[in-house]
Amino acid sequence: MGTITQSKRQLAWVFDLNKCIGCQTCSVACKVLWTQDEGTEHQWWMTVNTQPGAGTPKNYESMGGGYRDGKATLGKLPSPEEFGGGWDYNYDEVLRGGKGRDAHLEKVAGSKTWGPNWDEDEGAGEFPNAYFFYLPRLCNHCTVPGCVEACPNDALYKDPENGLVLRNEDLCKGAQMCARACPYKKIYFNPSLGISQQCIGCFPRIEQGVAPACVRQCPGRAAWIGFLDDEYGPVSKLVNKWKVAMPLHAEWGTKPNVFYVPPLSPAPLNPDGSFNENAERIPQSYLESLFGSDVSGAVDTLKAEMEKRRRGEASELMDILVMYKWEEALGPFTRDPAEIVWMSPANGGS
Ligand code: SF4
Ligand code: SF4
Ligand code: SF4
Repeated sequence: MGTITQSKRQLAWVFDLNKCIGCQTCSVACKVLWTQDEGTEHQWWMTVNTQPGAGTPKNYESMGGGYRDGKATLGKLPSPEEFGGGWDYNYDEVLRGGKGRDAHLEKVAGSKTWGPNWDEDEGAGEFPNAYFFYLPRLCNHCTVPGCVEACPNDALYKDPENGLVLRNEDLCKGAQMCARACPYKKIYFNPSLGISQQCIGCFPRIEQGVAPACVRQCPGRAAWIGFLDDEYGPVSKLVNKWKVAMPLHAEWGTKPNVFYVPPLSPAPLNPDGSFNENAERIPQSYLESLFGSDVSGAVDTLKAEMEKRRRGEASELMDILVMYKWEEALGPFTRDPAEIVWMSPANGGS
């Protein structure tokens, strides 16, 4: 079994769920950069799902893995069907087969029955008080990565300099114990190479001082990257100082390093059409099921600082969250990828 060696510093991501617009630019930025080769077609290292929803892979939250009572556990290996993928319609029959008046568009036999955004924008709640929000998910580059401990071939390790969880593909034998151990189910199998793969934290870019593509290209200014111990950086301030960013499912025990600013919600409507200012449209219990009991304190802090701003007072927290300059998202990784000549196959451009 693999050994977890701690790193000198830890990189972390923060996503503000009040600003994520579900545009999937991060998903596509990652896809274009890293998973274009044969065997990686189905791999989406970054996925943005609608919450509440079954997510990707389907119902991953009930597949197990992570740590229970301090002990590493192996969960289920998601099936290709649960990861899902693109599906095909009978375009030939309807659009090109002369049957347009009789045949209707429908999925053809053999198509997937699930995909990364299958239940997009469905959410929950009853009209007019329905609600949803977006949740970007990548490998959490955990401080206690169950995937590292589970690997029988010592193929996974934490980078000693930045805490990214990386894979030595020469050592990986495709045992997929890592995929079973990861409770977030963010590890994919490459059938062409016979190995497992996941988000590499854009390490070839990090080494060149360039921010990960998912952060750099986010048009919502909803994502930050930085070191957790950089007390003057926005990541550390949001996580450690203001305590408004929290990990997803911390109870799974891997100490994830992707943090989320929880979504605020409009007041629900009363039957007469007036607002019920004493209630939340997104149930507190649902947010707690994702982000733990500290989420209520985070929501209170966000509301209090918003109120200060409305009164015309200064708020460091609101200034960070507004992100007046997009470069504020990049931490120390401010270099322009266009000024670098990238060596194949480590193509870290864009
Ligand atoms: Fe959300 Fe930014 Fe990703 Fe768009 S690119 S889905 S705004 S995190
Ligand atoms: Fe490993 Fe999963 Fe944590 Fe990534 S999210 S470091 S794959 S346990
Ligand atoms: Fe993809 Fe890089 Fe973001 Fe990881 S850090 S999800 S590899 S773009």
